[in-house]
Amino acid sequence: MTQTNDGCSVPDASLKTGKGGLSTQAVHAGEDRQKYAHSVAEPIFLSSTYSFENTQAALDFVREKQPRDEYARYSNPGERSAEKKLAVLENGEEAVLFASGMSAVSALFLAKLQAGDEVVLFNECYHRTRMVCAEFLAKYGVKTHLVRACDYDGMEAMINSKTKLLMSESPTNPHHSVVDLARFAALGQKYGVETAVDATLATPYNCRPLDFGLDYVVHSCTKYLAGHNDLLCGAVIGSAKKVEQVRVVRGLLGLMNSPHNEYLFLRGLKSFEVRMRRHNENGQAVSEFLESHPRVEKVYYPGLSSHPYHELAKKQMRGFGGLVTFVLKDADAAATAAVVDAVRIPRIAPSLGGAESLIEQPLVISFHEFSAEKRREFNIPDSMIRLACGLENPEDLVADLKMALDR
Ligand code: PLP
Repeated sequence: MTQTNDGCSVPDASLKTGKGGLSTQAVHAGEDRQKYAHSVAEPIFLSSTYSFENTQAALDFVREKQPRDEYARYSNPGERSAEKKLAVLENGEEAVLFASGMSAVSALFLAKLQAGDEVVLFNECYHRTRMVCAEFLAKYGVKTHLVRACDYDGMEAMINSKTKLLMSESPTNPHHSVVDLARFAALGQKYGVETAVDATLATPYNCRPLDFGLDYVVHSCTKYLAGHNDLLCGAVIGSAKKVEQVRVVRGLLGLMNSPHNEYLFLRGLKSFEVRMRRHNENGQAVSEFLESHPRVEKVYYPGLSSHPYHELAKKQMRGFGGLVTFVLKDADAAATAAVVDAVRIPRIAPSLGGAESLIEQPLVISFHEFSAEKRREFNIPDSMIRLACGLENPEDLVADLKMALDR
């Protein structure tokens, strides 16, 4: 534990070495053993600003870069604990926490790119990430090349002296294409271009991209990491040097999360490993059931041997998460909606990774603003359903789906 000059303690970095199992790290890493007022749970510090005893204390803080807080747009105690925990879980040096996954992705782009730079993005991804890259960054003179997911030759062909970042998700949302992370990292290294992967669907339980040589891993912590469908949160993780500028952007633009959310996030993380086991179990059971059902034409889930990236996924990942995407046979939009409406356990909502299972027809929710032509381009048929398995019992989820499909 580090004592600061005002007698408060900053989180203990002793578990930063990555010692202990994932649950031990998720419970203890980044936290003081002895906390304020002898509390076992992390206290919530609501202050928007932090006082100095006198002018000399303020000068010491500035000159010595003391590990304490000054103003809550830059840092607060809950944020630091969460960042240390995340960095340990991802086997990274430093994490920077954000108010949402999108603020994390955007801050990475804003920190690393300037007018004249280019990004190459595998185009199978969360559609808002594609929008930020292809539309928002374009306004500031940054060009984005969209390349078919896992087309490494196509990506290489787009790299030139202006390229500053290669970006992808792995697995991709919602089709579950799995990027060969070692190959992706090697491509960046070959041309001296930084690489980033949004590993929201994988989580550090199933895969740790930094171990494969990536420069950055990005998360919508809103999903599995927080795990309870009750908050938004995001993070960028990498070496201390590389994420330094990302932290500066967060402070400048005010993209910090709130102390209440940070508390809930830390609380959610305690059960991360235990929850991921159930998400993986549910995803596998549900996708196997769906694949065997006569009304289902196709199931996208990397844990199925029929999935085109199954062999790579098995090598790179420990499990495959709770998100299952499937397409109904000979069903139009209305027949697909009838299945969504018939299930009794999953709630109809976007998002994934929480305790409650969620179901959606991408046509109706995630992709409602896209034309039929665009949906075809992104391979989103009207008969597609995205099911985010929560923490319910697998046999109940399967029985519920069976009831909805057999009607
Ligand atoms: N990345 C992926 C893969 C996502 O699925 C999402 C949201 O669905 C995001 C990023 C954005 O995260 P947030 O909603 O926390 O801003």
